[in-house]
Amino acid sequence: MERLTDRQDVWRWRRQGGGSVGFVPTMGALHAGHLSLLRAAQAQSDRVIASIFVNPTQFAAHEDFDRYPRLPEADQVLLAEAGCDALFSPSVAEIYGEDPHTVVRVEPLGSDLCGRFRPGHFQGVATVVAILLNMLRPDRLFLGWKDYQQLIVLRKMVQDLAMPVEIVGVPTLREADGLAMSSRNRYLTPAQRQQAAGIHQALMAAHQAWQEGERGVESLLACARRVLARADIREIDYVEVRDADTLEPVPAMGRWEKQADPVMLIAVRLGAARLIDNRILSST
Ligand code: AMP
Repeated sequence: MERLTDRQDVWRWRRQGGGSVGFVPTMGALHAGHLSLLRAAQAQSDRVIASIFVNPTQFAAHEDFDRYPRLPEADQVLLAEAGCDALFSPSVAEIYGEDPHTVVRVEPLGSDLCGRFRPGHFQGVATVVAILLNMLRPDRLFLGWKDYQQLIVLRKMVQDLAMPVEIVGVPTLREADGLAMSSRNRYLTPAQRQQAAGIHQALMAAHQAWQEGERGVESLLACARRVLARADIREIDYVEVRDADTLEPVPAMGRWEKQADPVMLIAVRLGAARLIDNRILSST
């Protein structure tokens, strides 16, 4: 695996081989979920490049940028063993240069849902991904469904700015009890780790209610909230049901159009961790 740290390295790597390039952006502290993105990329690309960059601009001042887990050696071994062709791990200066004046905002989507609780987060995400795409010029960008709003925000950015890249969404990898794998799960105490399974259980309960014919949004939300309460998860940023394509609010009860899939999205805080998860209610 080649290790690249500056844009000249990347341009050289990009020019030296032919075929299609798949790109997997990450913030490191890699787990099996990241590796499933890598495998999806390998299956659909001739060469795969992953990046590890803990992007300061997507963290608000009070958030966990300083203590975000950084495990560069272990990550490098995981990627090399998984057959990744190249790893790009740039410095902050390499990405942003001396005095950047340009940002990418995807609005109002970026201020909704997680954006309500993390002001500026999606501007940071969209801007860094735009920079990375310009440096790497991949054919396909692989993103996890786990960060569902991020996937929809970046799809919109790529569409609006006519960026020549195809976005591929990859299903969420879960622990045995259903908890979505996340670098932030390591913040959880053993007791909180047990509680955290309640997030997936809440999504499953709403999914089951939908499958049994429940179409009232308030009932679906109440169903999920009951399960969160049973798991003693009290700090809920939001539980929402939205249109899975646009993340817009869904029509009033009973007016579901067949083509609109509903997605339930949940964001909670458990101790030091903010955890998110989602489920398409109409999927089988
Ligand atoms: P992160 O390192 O948390 O920024 O995530 C990098 C990429 O991995 C994003 O596209 C995430 O959506 C994706 N990802 C994170 N956790 C999972 C998971 N459990 N299953 C699948 N993809 C994931």
